[in-house]
Amino acid sequence: MTTEQTAASINPWQVAQQQFDLAAGRLSLDPGLRRVLREPRRELTVHFPVKMDDGSVQVFTGYRVQHNVGRGPAKGGIRYHQDVTLDEVKALAMWMTWKCAVVAIPYGGGKGGVIVDPKKLSLKELEALTRRFTTEIEVLIGPERDIPAPDVNTNAQVMAWMMDTYSMHQGYTVPGVVTGKPISLGGSEGRTEATARGAVYCIVEAADHLGIDLGRSRVAVQGFGNAGSIAASLIRDEGSSVVAVSDSTGGIHRPTGLDVDRVIAWKKEHGTVQGFPGSTDVTNADVLEVDCDILIPAALENQITARNAGSIKARVIAEAANGPTTPDADEILHERGVFLIPDILCNAGGVTVSYFEWVQDLNRDHWSETIVNAKLKEIMVRAFDETYRIARQEEVNMRMAAYLLAVQRVADATSMRGLYP
Ligand code: GLU
Repeated sequence: MTTEQTAASINPWQVAQQQFDLAAGRLSLDPGLRRVLREPRRELTVHFPVKMDDGSVQVFTGYRVQHNVGRGPAKGGIRYHQDVTLDEVKALAMWMTWKCAVVAIPYGGGKGGVIVDPKKLSLKELEALTRRFTTEIEVLIGPERDIPAPDVNTNAQVMAWMMDTYSMHQGYTVPGVVTGKPISLGGSEGRTEATARGAVYCIVEAADHLGIDLGRSRVAVQGFGNAGSIAASLIRDEGSSVVAVSDSTGGIHRPTGLDVDRVIAWKKEHGTVQGFPGSTDVTNADVLEVDCDILIPAALENQITARNAGSIKARVIAEAANGPTTPDADEILHERGVFLIPDILCNAGGVTVSYFEWVQDLNRDHWSETIVNAKLKEIMVRAFDETYRIARQEEVNMRMAAYLLAVQRVADATSMRGLYP
């Protein structure tokens, strides 16, 4: 059985609830509070028509879920993918709640998704789909209510269309309704790189604590989208050698190291990393198991499972993706002494710079990239250190430590607010 097949058979929402239950149990959370935080606050399903280039009308299905809005507006990306499900979006929304709490930014958690393979749409169809989906979820979104952002297969252009659609309906420009916009429309410097940059700040901290020399480290990266390709470049800049990468079509391996810039150029030209001169084609699952020191899963959920956790060679796993590791795999990795930097900490750089973007938009301000990166580093290093300290104190793995930190923060906010009515 391939990893992909295994991934499809595991329900991310069950994984998310299981992770929460483990933390809630350890925190001895009040049972009522536990029941509240275990479910999403709001779930919206929309079926909406789009006029296609051939004149036909197709109906697409999309979701927007707000898991929690206790600490601030719901925050989280919009994903376009053929395998999107409501349960996946619920899981991703819950993970956003914990992620925002780990880095202590004043947001709750939300997520959206549309069931579509955007690679099969023309630009015009993609714009029409985005504008109609934005209109459908307008009952929930807004700069004080719920703020979307890019996720898998969405980008600054999609955010510009969302912002324009929302603004047209309001009658004035509302930059703060989405983040991850182009710089020309109130986007933040450094937002595109932020997820990868935050992950690399975490890896540098981990290497420091574990006595790992990044200049001698070999890295494998699964996923070559926004997070994966930029993480590969940034870890190369730290002196590490990137020995394997993959995208949705497959992977490549070169034990002596790949030229990351040339792989990026190759993918741009050929639409795939495979066939890169001097490397061997491997499968997406193989990339997880290659001989390396640091593994960066930067693709989709449920890639590291009980099936392959025992075969992973890396000493450090840095989860740039959301939900790449199942709870069973977590246990195996922990027993094997693998140091895992969990998603809700590791990839929180993206939403952190989204928060900076929103603050700049609300203040009609624009910060330099130097300021953005310095603030990002401060937040990521602090969150890493707080998590690491809890892991040591409580003798738990980094995921449990991050959950203990996050769930406690959300629980405190929720109980201070009290129950309405
Ligand atoms: N989609 C990203 C994530 O999963 C960013 C969300 C945001 O910036 O709101 O964290």
